[in-house]
Amino acid sequence: MLHRQKPFIQMIQVGTIMTLFANSGCNPFVKMKNPTEKKYEVILPRETSPSPDLRWLVKEDPACVSSEVVSEITIYEWNGHQTVAKKVPFIGHAGPDKEFVSTSIVGSLLGYKSTYNCKNSQSGADDCTLDKSKSSSDETPFAMCRGNGTYGRDSLESLTLTAQYYTEDAYRFYDSIQGRLSGIAKAILIPQPLVNRHVTKADGTTRDSIDVNNASFASIPATATQPKLGVFFIFPTSLKAFAKSPLNLWEVPFVMRHEFGHHVLNHYVKKNESLSIANDMSLESIMPEPSRKHPDQYTLSLTSATAAPQFALDGINETFADLFAYFAGNGAKGQLAGVRCLDVTRDPSSEVTAKGHPKGLDKARVDIYEGRSPALTDEGCGEPQFDDEHDIATALGQPIAAFIEGATPNLDAVGRAQILLTWATKINALVGTPSNVSLDTLIVEMVKAVKLKNPLIAASCVKFKAAITGLPKAFDACAD
Ligand SMILES: [Zn+2]
Repeated sequence: MLHRQKPFIQMIQVGTIMTLFANSGCNPFVKMKNPTEKKYEVILPRETSPSPDLRWLVKEDPACVSSEVVSEITIYEWNGHQTVAKKVPFIGHAGPDKEFVSTSIVGSLLGYKSTYNCKNSQSGADDCTLDKSKSSSDETPFAMCRGNGTYGRDSLESLTLTAQYYTEDAYRFYDSIQGRLSGIAKAILIPQPLVNRHVTKADGTTRDSIDVNNASFASIPATATQPKLGVFFIFPTSLKAFAKSPLNLWEVPFVMRHEFGHHVLNHYVKKNESLSIANDMSLESIMPEPSRKHPDQYTLSLTSATAAPQFALDGINETFADLFAYFAGNGAKGQLAGVRCLDVTRDPSSEVTAKGHPKGLDKARVDIYEGRSPALTDEGCGEPQFDDEHDIATALGQPIAAFIEGATPNLDAVGRAQILLTWATKINALVGTPSNVSLDTLIVEMVKAVKLKNPLIAASCVKFKAAITGLPKAFDACAD
């Protein structure tokens, strides 16, 4: 009897993954409003009343009876109108005795469950600790058991295969970019994690919520026994969200490409003591995290010299991820069509938000983001209030995409993505001096990256400058 090597994925310290939530996303400063005050229905990335609202997927083939070579898989793709089954080629291993491993995904971990006890203080600075007694340690590696057979859309297998396919697709796109920085870390997927937050508010009342309708990226630093790894979380869909719009976020190609964009910037920006993009423990998501909005006392957090560069980098990280996803999707228009809260507003090909507000950053918007004035009134999910890093992606994604496209009429999407990588190199250089980091200076580096590709950008600058009047240095860096 051959001794079967312990699957790689089980060797990963699950505790390391658990700390990701405690260290970053788990300070749920939720701007709770009385639901009766709302003029619209918002579905937050976190929902109260945990399990009843989950569109909880289970394995269609729990017995995992067959073991065959896999050369083709069926995934489920949102095409802007509906989700359709699609057969795609697959390179990897499968079967009950083998982990499901593809080119860059070293495994998927099923059954991840954790509970955090969080204290919600008045300032919004919350403290979360892992509740070990309520966190499971029975995660199992995913195995693909049907050869080239198919699974239904509503199965844990299809969730995993679809998310894995788009993540691999993003790796392939990255590998096609000339001059890319080699050695980007391989990754694991955590499909359908159950992250439960038990929050004690300042007034002593408690509230339970779970993370839904989102996808996140984090990276685990190298240890003596394991190399650096990317981790992609694909959160479950809430029933309420599904009833309003019958798609799962992982079926939208843009979503995993966005998360992969965070992986790319994390790969370029080296570890830095005061800026946390490369602290390897930051959880970056596609949907806004309520906890990461500015506290209500907006002037508190950003007056410090250390907080301001961090907020700037967070905003540019989201912008970068949207732009990477956009070019990985060949710069097609409407890549987020039909996706609740993201459609139009976060589409880098749309000049306006869903409610018709023009994109761009004028001084008033920069003042909000940098903590000098209060956030805009909440107009509904996705509409920017400019106190969240995803609002910076909304504001800058389209102007930058149009600027790059205008300056490089002869380049394809891969060539344009190369400009993003040049920008990433320059961001890395800039964050070496955190005091120099601001939204303005980070965008100056983007303008420089475009100029390296084409110094004659005057015509493209006209529209771009009109969209960034709140960033005077970047405005001046663009040719007249
Ligand atoms: Zn993101």
